[in-house]
Amino acid sequence: MTPPGPLERPWHTMTTAAVAEQLRVDPAQGLTPNEVTRRQREHGDNTLRAATRRGPLRMLLAQFADVMVLVLIGAAIIAALVGDPEDTLAIVAIVILNAVLGFVQEYRAERALAALGAMAAPTARVRRAGEERTVPSHDLVPGDLVLLEAGNVVPADVRLTDSVRLSVEEAALTGESVPVEKDTAPTSATDAPLGDRHGMLYKGTSIAAGRGTGIVVATGMRTELGRIAAMLQDDTDVRSPLQLRLAAFGRRLAVLVIGLCTIIFVTGLLRGEPLGLMFMTALSLAVAAIPEALPAVITVSLALGARRMVRQQALIRRLPAVETLGSVTYICTDKTGTLTENRMRVDVVQAPCGSALEASHVRTPLPHVALTIAGVATLCTDVQGAADDAAADDAAADDVLVGDPTETALVRWATAHEAHKPSLEQRWPRIAEVPFTSERARMTTVHAAAGHEQRLACTKGAPERVVPHCDRMLRDGALVPIDRAAVLQQAEQMAASGLRVLAVATNSDHGEPGDPPDALEEHQLLLALVGLIDPPRQEAADAVLTCHTAGIHVVMITGDHPATARAIALRLGIETDPTAPVLTGRALADLNDEALREQVEHTRVYARVAPEDKLRIVRALQARGEFAAMTGDGVNDAPALKHADIGIAMGLGGTDVAREASHMVLLDDNFATIVQAVREGRRIYDNIRRFVRFVLSTNAGEIWTLFLAPFLGLPLPLLPIHILWMNLVTDGLPGLALAAERAERDVMQRPPRPPQEGIFAHGLWQHAVWVGLLMAALALGTLAWARHTGNAHWQTMTFTVLTLSQLTHIMAIRSERQSVFRQGVTSNPLLLLAVVATLLLQLATIYVPAMNGVFRTVPLTLGELAACLAIASVVFVAVEFEKFLVRRRGLYADPAAATPAS
Ligand code: ATP
Repeated sequence: MTPPGPLERPWHTMTTAAVAEQLRVDPAQGLTPNEVTRRQREHGDNTLRAATRRGPLRMLLAQFADVMVLVLIGAAIIAALVGDPEDTLAIVAIVILNAVLGFVQEYRAERALAALGAMAAPTARVRRAGEERTVPSHDLVPGDLVLLEAGNVVPADVRLTDSVRLSVEEAALTGESVPVEKDTAPTSATDAPLGDRHGMLYKGTSIAAGRGTGIVVATGMRTELGRIAAMLQDDTDVRSPLQLRLAAFGRRLAVLVIGLCTIIFVTGLLRGEPLGLMFMTALSLAVAAIPEALPAVITVSLALGARRMVRQQALIRRLPAVETLGSVTYICTDKTGTLTENRMRVDVVQAPCGSALEASHVRTPLPHVALTIAGVATLCTDVQGAADDAAADDAAADDVLVGDPTETALVRWATAHEAHKPSLEQRWPRIAEVPFTSERARMTTVHAAAGHEQRLACTKGAPERVVPHCDRMLRDGALVPIDRAAVLQQAEQMAASGLRVLAVATNSDHGEPGDPPDALEEHQLLLALVGLIDPPRQEAADAVLTCHTAGIHVVMITGDHPATARAIALRLGIETDPTAPVLTGRALADLNDEALREQVEHTRVYARVAPEDKLRIVRALQARGEFAAMTGDGVNDAPALKHADIGIAMGLGGTDVAREASHMVLLDDNFATIVQAVREGRRIYDNIRRFVRFVLSTNAGEIWTLFLAPFLGLPLPLLPIHILWMNLVTDGLPGLALAAERAERDVMQRPPRPPQEGIFAHGLWQHAVWVGLLMAALALGTLAWARHTGNAHWQTMTFTVLTLSQLTHIMAIRSERQSVFRQGVTSNPLLLLAVVATLLLQLATIYVPAMNGVFRTVPLTLGELAACLAIASVVFVAVEFEKFLVRRRGLYADPAAATPAS
């Protein structure tokens, strides 16, 4: 089977039956699994570009692509040809080992990223072999039947076979930002522009409203989007701000290092050292000291961090978010489902201007129509899976009901009051509806009694949106004129205790049969006010408290009633002042941008806001210099998510559109997970800083040692192989183990890091300079003293002192402020292991006879070894003293910023 090419009859001109026939699919059943497999082989994946991931071999080879490394290998080989092949082999071996180590890291990171990518990959609802199921979008084939609803991103080019009030946002393809209505009719003009082909849906566009079903007609690069791949948003550059800054820094440092190495080379020659040796020394030092791998190391840290975060239910979609999470100063969060459990239950049902209704009232048929209050409420829901048996209100039946939690709560309550949705729907089939949207905050279904002309509208929604359209209310079984103000007052009182309040209303005797359903939303009869409980999540209050100690403001943005919102905010500690105002969507609309900018500083709760308002709130916060995270789940939330510094989508309840716009997805929709992610982000950033601190200090130590020696009248302190060994072993192993460092105790007790703050802030570069100088002073001091006392082991001792001081240094910089003893010497077992392993390897270079030949070392006496260790410990003591000054005297504190209290 080959689908017609573009030159044959185009899909949009064909009837749905013709499309189904051409693609050999039964629209009621969909394709069989065998047929899907066959078509997948024929058409390939439904992806836009062939995956361009590097294979392992290319990744390994890329490790050698560094010019300096290649020059080093070349020089070592030439040296072998003219001199000592043993040396050369050792150098080449070290360089190769180094590359392998780099490769293993990068490969792990790549695998972690691929796994995250697979988790974040979009899915599609399909009908195959008569069953509906969710499959990864890239598995779709021509002929597949896809089911789409508001919030979905269209996964392939689709010819519609069925549609209900379907409209689609096609801006990605046509540039037209107003949603276009779609239906199943063919378009006659063969060359109709994409935007006019109303029977077609195109990959990459999104469903703005309604639902539909269609047959996939093109996948992957054969879709319209595939053809204009250039229009794709390019998301491939995921380099984080830190990586960019470090890459730039690395280039500047490289120039400096090469300058210093040249001086080392020239002064060596002037002093009569052999040309070959000096060349290798300078080159080895350049290779060792230029931190060209820093940006790659950061990718590794971020990727591995992201992998860890996914285990904590936070899925990172854009890697730089891991790094920037630590800068968040505002978390703007939804209420329902994020701060609350989204497990609703009807708590109380009150008569308008009356008291709580007894069960018998709820079960009494209404005076004007053969239906109860519970019956009206349950008819006005889209819940699936409701049964006729009364057991439906017990916990086991919860799993059966599928739908919005507000609605499943109503259905459960109605069932308990003898209003069974399936049998009611048989008696009162639905003939029309005005769906719920957050903007309207109400919903109406229209029913016709079987065999009668009579139409019945069932409405439920936010009291302020329903009550104004009611002119009568039900009280004590009678219909009386409504007192709107009193009812709204009553609803406010219910909301103030934290309940979500819905007004239930009906209309049976207005409107003509041909009227649109919206007409039946007027002149209604108010039946009852229903109060639903949605308990706050237990962990949410703790998470809010953590945010406050971490200098992060928590803001609740909800579509719910201001009184409900305030009650929940007070309970969770988001708001502490019961009299503080709640900013409503209406008040917000009256504020201009400048006034809003003023207002956001004091506002903790926004209620009855529309999703569009979220964008204004984010903008206002950002204009104040805040770094804002924002949650969202709906289509209309997407712009705010995109614009936020960290856009957070819901994984359980969210739409594809929101997910695609986000930086991070909460797999459990839980507020506490955001706070956990911020904590993890801060930890990862701290670890990156530790690594940079470590690498720069040790490299500085090596450079200073070789640079200063000739000026102090000392011989060449280290041989090329020593330098490369230190680069591989002492920099490599323990450096990697730093990534496993746990979060510091005060990680959530300090203020957020200003987003513009450089990685070298708080004394990092000063530290690298003075520690480097101290290491060099210790190494050269040892050298001078050993030579002075006629000790022939001077070079081995210098080499050992330098290596050991790098190890004592790493133990001390595990925390920026805390003493290592308070932090716990063994709290990073991996690092301890790496330090011990490095120590043993260093001892091997000194005491294993075969290594003595390679490293030109001599076995030290126990006294000499002890002396080396003691000298190296000075670095540890000095850094601990530096931290003491940081803690006590605020050394390196930025005078402009508040000093964190520990
Ligand atoms: P949050 O922003 O905290 O997640 P929300 O998004 O759940 O809140 P909406 O879903 O926009 O808020 O609901 C706004 C209001 O609309 C609710 O307070 C309620 O009064 C009403 N409402 C919610 N769900 C329904 C529904 N299924 N039918 C009718 N009205 C509803």
